[in-house]
Amino acid sequence: MRSLLMRNPVVVGASWIGAYLLITVLPLLILLLYPPTPTNGRGFWIEFSVALGFVGLAMMALQFALTARLNKVEASYGIDLILQFHRYISLVAFIFILVHPLMLFVTDPETLQLLNVFEAPWRARFAVLATLALIALVATSIWRQQLKIPYEPWRIAHGILAVSAIGFGLAHALGVSYYLSLFWKVVIWTGLALTALWLLIYVRLVKPWFMLRKPYLVEEVRPERGNVWSLVLRPRGHEGIHFQPGQFAWITLQISPFRMREHPFSMASSAEDTERLEFGIKAVGDFTNTVKDVPPGTKAFLDGPYGVFTTDRYENTVGFVFIAGGIGITPIMSMLVTLAERKDDRPLILIYANKTWEDVTYREEIEDLKEKLDLQVVHVLREPPEDWSGETGYVDKEMLKRYIPKRAATRNYFICAVPKMMDQVEKALYELEVPVTHVHMEHYNLV
Ligand SMILES: Cc1cc2nc3c(=O)[nH]c(=O)nc-3n(C[C@H](O)[C@H](O)[C@H](O)COP(=O)(O)OP(=O)(O)OC[C@H]3O[C@@H](n4cnc5c(N)ncnc54)[C@H](O)[C@@H]3O)c2cc1C
Repeated sequence: MRSLLMRNPVVVGASWIGAYLLITVLPLLILLLYPPTPTNGRGFWIEFSVALGFVGLAMMALQFALTARLNKVEASYGIDLILQFHRYISLVAFIFILVHPLMLFVTDPETLQLLNVFEAPWRARFAVLATLALIALVATSIWRQQLKIPYEPWRIAHGILAVSAIGFGLAHALGVSYYLSLFWKVVIWTGLALTALWLLIYVRLVKPWFMLRKPYLVEEVRPERGNVWSLVLRPRGHEGIHFQPGQFAWITLQISPFRMREHPFSMASSAEDTERLEFGIKAVGDFTNTVKDVPPGTKAFLDGPYGVFTTDRYENTVGFVFIAGGIGITPIMSMLVTLAERKDDRPLILIYANKTWEDVTYREEIEDLKEKLDLQVVHVLREPPEDWSGETGYVDKEMLKRYIPKRAATRNYFICAVPKMMDQVEKALYELEVPVTHVHMEHYNLV
């Protein structure tokens, strides 16, 4: 009974939320269980501001768990949702941490002197350093693109700033030591700090070490339509990864996994074949532009599979509608070829938007799949050739209405495209009364 419950995704998802909330409110519980003695002279607002600081610090420490790609957590929500939560909750923690000194300054203006870092005690200096690290962390994340910071250096700086903010924050809390004087409170905070440290070690050392033991070799790099390259990998000395169609993996090519220069790509091949993995990679930037030159025999490392964008989670549905824009076709391709290999006879619709007819990645392969599947394909072109009689322009409500079944809620919908198209399609499906629980999306821009 217990193991059945723990396999239920809703129960598992709810337990993670419960654990998260418990850890974040722990500092408040401590405050409730051990209220400050009335003789200490500190009023409610000071106690409240300190509690906010502690809650903010606990939330920041937990960010390491959110971004450590722990398979069990990831499998409950999907990376999109986790990263969205990571972004929003960071802002909440940021506000709590900023409000903490502001409240102190308002209630006791003398504490403003602590901002004089030349004369202030170390505990105050640590607080200033933690706050500065946090401000830099939040600003460079929100405005990374406007500040024109490339992804890789940003990621390294993000890690350093996060560790600094928490390290200095903890040093500040230990320096003040007012709330940490009780033995078991020290235990809780040290435990939290050690967990964050372990997660860091796990991500930076343990995971890469496991990846190193399971290498892949590049079998071929093949050009596809639309400036896309098929990267074919074969496991070397192991059986490869078992994945669900539509999932993705983080790929490291040519270099050691310890260097942490990995990129996420959806598997485009069948989930039934773990011996040969194919990825469709569009050349858009520093890394993806180099894929075409990768020689066969090159070593590759994979961290995965990840993601919940898969038809395998909806075995009992009557049929599927896939809506892809450009390179968003890759996870959908994996779902289609897997369904074909499994001889699935459910009705499928693929609405596939591209700029030109020549750009349509996997055009011929999709045509062949029509022979093996009950598949209706609707190509949508923004710049159609003169003799084009198919759909043109953008995928909107009217267009969707022409193709999706009247009883729209009987299907599950998978969307993968640029953010703008995904937003528009999501809104249109909502207006067409498709329940939100039936709409699944994969975002390619994590940051
Ligand atoms: C879940 C998921 C699945 C994806 N599947 C595919 C796929 O099947 N085919 C495909 O062509 N693309 C896919 N992408 C997008 C692909 O990861 C990026 O295009 C690629 O990492 C860009 O790297 P670059 O150095 O060439 O480009 P850059 O010009 O350096 O970056 C372009 C943008 O890509 C993102 N990006 C860059 N590096 C990384 C990184 N290491 N990790 C995460 N994001 C990064 C950033 O938002 C950046 O602004 C997927 C992305 C995600 C999140």
